[in-house]
Amino acid sequence: MARIETPARIRGFQDIFGEDQRRFAHVVDTFDRIRRLYCFQRAEMPVLESTAVFSRSMGETSDVVSKEMYTFAPGEDEDGTFTMRPEFTAGICRALITNGWQQHTPLKLVTSGAVFRRERPQKGRYRQFHQLDAEVLGVAEPSADVELLVLADQLLRELGIEDVTLQLNTLGDAETREAWRTALVAHFEQHKDQLSEDSLVRLEKNPMRILDSKDPRDRPIADSAPDIDAYLTEEAAAFFKAVTDGLDAAGVKWTRNSRLVRGLDYYRHTAFEFVTDKLGAQGTVLAGGRYDGLVGSLGGPETPGVGWAAGIERLGMMIPEPATERMQVAVVVEAAGSEAAAIGLLAALRNNGISAELFASGSPKKRYDRAMKAGPAMTVSFQSRDGEVSIAQRVIDGDAVDADAVATLVSGAAR
Ligand code: ATP
Ligand code: MG
Repeated sequence: MARIETPARIRGFQDIFGEDQRRFAHVVDTFDRIRRLYCFQRAEMPVLESTAVFSRSMGETSDVVSKEMYTFAPGEDEDGTFTMRPEFTAGICRALITNGWQQHTPLKLVTSGAVFRRERPQKGRYRQFHQLDAEVLGVAEPSADVELLVLADQLLRELGIEDVTLQLNTLGDAETREAWRTALVAHFEQHKDQLSEDSLVRLEKNPMRILDSKDPRDRPIADSAPDIDAYLTEEAAAFFKAVTDGLDAAGVKWTRNSRLVRGLDYYRHTAFEFVTDKLGAQGTVLAGGRYDGLVGSLGGPETPGVGWAAGIERLGMMIPEPATERMQVAVVVEAAGSEAAAIGLLAALRNNGISAELFASGSPKKRYDRAMKAGPAMTVSFQSRDGEVSIAQRVIDGDAVDADAVATLVSGAAR
């Protein structure tokens, strides 16, 4: 017979199961708990957007838009092309405009889910990966930047992630950016012959992004480029000071990284990354900044915004292994004829919020051993004694189960 070939999993796409899934779920659960402490609402966003949502907001020359997007032609009844979201921010800003969410501003929102980027897969770098995302829309004051950073810091601490540094920079206001940009161009022009091909293109289109380059040829030139500090307007300097003062007041440690620029065009003022040296080249676990120009550039009413995104997989790799959830009660059927009573008990346990599993198949003699292997906190077995059915209860870990509540339900089932 011809061998049937199994279609392969696509490169860069993951099946998440077992320990990896528990890590993933713990990150998302912790995020959802903490965002409530900060009074952020949750939104669910579509995977597909019109390509223009990303190309206009992320910049045609950004790595993501120029080479990493999954874009395809939709059906005949629809216009343009569609793109699978490579991030959340642009789509949330599109939603703000199309749904008139300005009326709800200030809007504090989180979301999470899959995002897609066609880049070279490696450890900590996938083509479908997952992000946590937090945004504040409609707040021009630095208090929003501070709140988002404090939230991020608490999230990382409560996840038990140590050895991360908050690197902080300012990109200034429009006037600052313009003056700094001119100085950067002058500097890079002097070293044009040493720059990578990619950076030569950046020099034409978005010179600031050369500072962000990972190409070793660009690094010395990027590192010796002029700092923004000399070009900061008074307002921009005051904004940055308010952010750092807020962080200090909240007890969040930070360091200045004057080379830090976000790759995208619409960032203003605050830019930040939480970085670890634990994940090699994939060391950025959470990153974001202020994007006051974005909503306007999508054709909406000028609306300030600030936000961040974090890779769920990268966070998952850094947390201590989460405990497996312990089965509270194993219901074991050893005596023939007690199946119905066992099913009744099982339903009663679950209806009362007690997790339970039934062991009623395979060799009756082996059922108890199989139940014990599952590691329950308690067993309830229907046994046969001298032709009568008796129910034996055994508590293995009294802290993990309310044995009295189980006993009450068992006596109900026995009647
Ligand atoms: P990098 O510099 O690692 O490419 P980035 O600047 O492209 O990151 P962002 O667009 O800021 O990343 O996305 C936010 C977070 O999403 C990152 O800090 C990282 O944790 C995660 N991330 C980005 N790309 C990937 C990927 N391909 N696979 C897994 N996680 C990723
Ligand atoms: Mg990237």
